[in-house]
Amino acid sequence: MHLSLATWTEIEARLPRDAGIVIPIGSHEQHGPTGLIGTDALCPQIIADAAAKDADLLVGPTFSVGMAQHHMGFPGSMTLRPSTMIAAMVDWTMSLSRAGFRRLYWLNGHGGNVATINAAFAESYAAYSLRGEPAPFAHMLRNWWELPGIERLCLAEFPVGHGSHATPSEVAVTYAAYPERASLAQTVLSPIIAPTGPIRDAGDYRARFPDGRIGSDPTKATVEAGRRIIDAAAAALIAEAGGFFAEAGTGAPARIAAD
Ligand SMILES: [Zn+2]
Repeated sequence: MHLSLATWTEIEARLPRDAGIVIPIGSHEQHGPTGLIGTDALCPQIIADAAAKDADLLVGPTFSVGMAQHHMGFPGSMTLRPSTMIAAMVDWTMSLSRAGFRRLYWLNGHGGNVATINAAFAESYAAYSLRGEPAPFAHMLRNWWELPGIERLCLAEFPVGHGSHATPSEVAVTYAAYPERASLAQTVLSPIIAPTGPIRDAGDYRARFPDGRIGSDPTKATVEAGRRIIDAAAAALIAEAGGFFAEAGTGAPARIAAD
């Protein structure tokens, strides 16, 4: 079930028995000449959508613009400053907590978000810690490619030129969901495998990585590989989020019978 497609009465009936929610979180930033700007928001959303088809998981709205200051040299990229993102995540948290959600599982699609997400977690807990009250909620962060077994699968699918930005894995996941965009993989890239190096400000990034990729050859991305990654990641998400939600006394998500 998706929060955006539920009614308030359905949510009230679900709480407090099922007090967990999965929140996809990502970024809108360039992903090289063959990757979609929304890749980092789309990947966790696609995986959460697939999981919600197989199990009774509640999926929240995608937090779709993240901390991407280093991508701002490429048109279409959008960023929140870390301070803005922390404030917005704390407001999302307090809104859900007020309703009675007690476990917030953030499925992340953008490595550049990690430091800010952890800062937002600390900010949301700090108000309770300083008052000497127990926080009524707990957060969990998981990068989708670090779900159990997924990094191994991605490297097995793309043993050469996987890289770290605009990777064939993440691009394949988006092509599987939007196959009408898969012909982008026919674009000729030079060099075939992009350079690697440190990440600093936006100007330095564009000078170092002129087409936006880091260490990757995303022209290897296919719809079929994307489907395999989505299926495996959705199953891993159901298992892991279910375990986290069970901490709050809520049952593991019931499997929905396949049709
Ligand atoms: Zn990405």
